[in-house]
Amino acid sequence: LIYTENIFDGSREDLINKVSQALSQKRFEHVLRVEDMALQLADKWHVDAELASIAALTHDYAKERSDKDFLRKIEEKQLDSDLINWGNNIWHGVVGAEMVKDELGIMHEDILNAIRQHTTGATTMTKLSQILYMADYIEAGRDFPGVEEVRALAFEDLAASVGWQTAHTLSFLLSKEVRVYPGTLLTYNTWSVDK
Ligand code: GDP
Ligand code: FE
Ligand code: FE
Ligand code: FE
Repeated sequence: LIYTENIFDGSREDLINKVSQALSQKRFEHVLRVEDMALQLADKWHVDAELASIAALTHDYAKERSDKDFLRKIEEKQLDSDLINWGNNIWHGVVGAEMVKDELGIMHEDILNAIRQHTTGATTMTKLSQILYMADYIEAGRDFPGVEEVRALAFEDLAASVGWQTAHTLSFLLSKEVRVYPGTLLTYNTWSVDK
């Protein structure tokens, strides 16, 4: 895949180099599998391959950053002050998108929104955002009950697969009795109910 749209100032290989430097080998391999799945979904659902590749390669760019880094970025960018009550799981997407913008120079708002939404989803999601949300969940290394069913569903009915993931993630969070991010509930009400 050759980048031609000048969304990132460099080649795909340059971007891979930057991302690999920010991540452990294990997480970097996850990122490459997410890209592979995102490209398959982009082909199926007629989304631009370069956008899918860049979103996938950068979605977990900030995942290994310190809490201090995230709190500093929330302050610097004057993001929603409720964010300080959450942690890495929520920050690495919502706040991580600002690091992708500021450190990798990627300004494309559709890509940044897909990164912001990749963990919790959102009420309004572009096809690119739905693809990243699903690719992260069903990449070839994922293994959980129903993974083959939801992998097939993502290629048959993308919106229904978003609903499936959200319902299952919500149930998983409730079973662990951890706090549910309000955005996750909004995603559930929009995508998982009455569909
Ligand atoms: P990863 O970065 O590839 O591991 O995957 P994600 O970014 O999709 O998810 C990161 C973690 O956030 C997972 O362990 C999810 O279960 C968790 N998560 C998703 N939604 C919520 C939420 O509403 N609340 C909390 N506390 N965790 C969540
Ligand atoms: Fe993530
Ligand atoms: Fe995810
Ligand atoms: Fe991920």
